[in-house]
Amino acid sequence: MIDTSRADDSRDGKLFDEDEGVGYGALLDRESDEHFMRIALRQAAEAFEKDEVPVGAVIVRRGTVIGAAHNGRETLKDPTAHAEMLAITQAAAAVDDWRLNGCTLYVTLEPCPMCAGALVLARVDRVVFGTWDPKGGAVGSLYRIGEDERLNHRFQVTSGVMQPDCAEILTEFFRRKRAAGKK
Ligand SMILES: [Zn+2]
Repeated sequence: MIDTSRADDSRDGKLFDEDEGVGYGALLDRESDEHFMRIALRQAAEAFEKDEVPVGAVIVRRGTVIGAAHNGRETLKDPTAHAEMLAITQAAAAVDDWRLNGCTLYVTLEPCPMCAGALVLARVDRVVFGTWDPKGGAVGSLYRIGEDERLNHRFQVTSGVMQPDCAEILTEFFRRKRAAGKK
């Protein structure tokens, strides 16, 4: 459950419940990135349990999680129900504004072209992803949508945060799928 009530007054609060004394500037630290990637990984694990391709995403503003979702294509029967899209919708509702300036999106798998486009439209500051998607990634692998100067907004990209964990859950999911298919 996301505590959206903290979205507007987070400046006064602690950044993390368990990590007192971490300053805002330190949000760029690898430690902070791993902290939020772990939350995204928990979302991916929830997707795994629901037999959804295990990808999880969280959106953070001023150290507070304002959106957290996992892929829901099967459950929602919606090709656009990627973790990032659902997290963007939640975050926008939490801040009551479609503009997500000042926000960082953490996602376990490199965003696809649709999600990278949505992240440009949402005007996020930064995207942090775990593992690369060589067949569909749009923020480094196939395209660099967030860094394309022809578009009217750009975001910073950090890749490979907790890469082995983010890749492993996907590998395990598809390994089980293949094993089940052979029965
Ligand atoms: Zn996507």
